[in-house]
Amino acid sequence: MNDDIQAKLRELPAVSVVLEEMTDDIARHGHQAVTKAVREHLSLLREQLQRGETADIAVEGVLSSVRRMLSNQNQSTLLPVFNLTGIVLHSNLGRASLSEAAIAAMSKIASGASTLEYDISEGKRGDRDSHIEAIICELTGAEAATVVNNNAAAVLLTLNTLALNKSVPVSRGELVEIGGSFRVPDIMSRSGCRLIEVGTTNRTHLADYADAIDADTALLMRVHTSNYRIEGFTKAVPERELAHLAAQHDLPFVVDMGCGNLIDLKALGLPHEATAWETLKNGADLVLFSGDKLLGGPQAGIIAGEKSLIAQIKKNPIKRALRLDKLTLAGLEATLQLYRNPDALTSQLPTLRLLTRSEADVRSQAERLCNLVTKALGNSYSVDIANLSSQIGSGSFPVEVLPSAGLAISSKSGEDGELRALDRRFHELPNPIIGRISNGVLLLDLRCLEPNHERQFVEQLKDLSL
Ligand SMILES: *Cc1c(COP(=O)(O)O)cnc(C)c1O
Repeated sequence: MNDDIQAKLRELPAVSVVLEEMTDDIARHGHQAVTKAVREHLSLLREQLQRGETADIAVEGVLSSVRRMLSNQNQSTLLPVFNLTGIVLHSNLGRASLSEAAIAAMSKIASGASTLEYDISEGKRGDRDSHIEAIICELTGAEAATVVNNNAAAVLLTLNTLALNKSVPVSRGELVEIGGSFRVPDIMSRSGCRLIEVGTTNRTHLADYADAIDADTALLMRVHTSNYRIEGFTKAVPERELAHLAAQHDLPFVVDMGCGNLIDLKALGLPHEATAWETLKNGADLVLFSGDKLLGGPQAGIIAGEKSLIAQIKKNPIKRALRLDKLTLAGLEATLQLYRNPDALTSQLPTLRLLTRSEADVRSQAERLCNLVTKALGNSYSVDIANLSSQIGSGSFPVEVLPSAGLAISSKSGEDGELRALDRRFHELPNPIIGRISNGVLLLDLRCLEPNHERQFVEQLKDLSL
């Protein structure tokens, strides 16, 4: 090692010297974390010097590097983002945004003890489902209800309770995969029942079910083919007929409804989707649905229907492993309470507010933002207002689209790399902006940019450092 390097190494500040300057940082991050960061950075500098490289070994430089390290360490990777993908209920971006009422209810319960499993009038142990059962029954017309971690759990628990070691006929047209990890045949085998495939992919008749029923059959199940649609020469058995067949054989009829709708969506100008109320009226003994899809609440799975079946499900020891925590219960209850006043839903419930935003409203927002975004992006990019189509998402309504508007950003050079670089920059913002690149343009669908987040969206563009 030459003398020069030796001299530089001797100039490296000692750990204690750096720490002396970091009393405030130690108060914030703790002595151990700060000491560790200082040691790591000094050893990095030592290695650089030993390799003959230049390194900033002044105390000031060391301090700022260590402070950057400490603040990076505290950065969560679970971040709020601007969902400008055009998919309102985006499964990878957290599905439904919660209402203010749900957030308030969750935060009220979060900070202290609660009556989670305490019956206040009796002064003894209570049931956590009791807080929510009555309102589910009120909104669905069910006799009884229970709640679990998500709809996948609802399907698993229902089948494991009612069909363990028995068989369940399901139409071949309904053996769907939802979002990669939920596949009907897999969840059935894990819940301990045997799937009996009936009918064909495009056509299943009542006789197919009738032929499949034997002494081993536990129940009949219908699965909402949420995320795909078969068109053309198709046939599915109406719910009423399936319910009738099940009743004839004294079997429960279970419907996995998927997205969980409680209201007349057509009246809001959205595509029709059966409600839990209608499905139970059609003769389903149990309906299962998600809390964080169309319903607009926190992640949950709701099981509603006949009292004796719900009682069996609640007694299954697996229920304990799938139960909801107090925050989710509070958020779900507050979400459901909003449904008592359906007229206010499109203003109070973000999911329905976003889904029912008019094209004109989104377009005027695009017009408002176009210049600001153009300025922020500098000379290399051009920004245009674009007609777009939003999707409802989360596996519901695979075909229907909502007319929307947004910004279409293209690079003036026409180079794909430049557009991808901008997309990356958007992703690196403190609250990442998630759009989509399509045919050489970066599209930002503004349907999900709520006006009260607009300022933050614009402010952030300053950090793009283009
Ligand atoms: C979404 C969906 C599920 C899974 O629900 P999660 O709440 O995501 O667990 C199950 N079945 C159907 C038909 C669905 O659409």
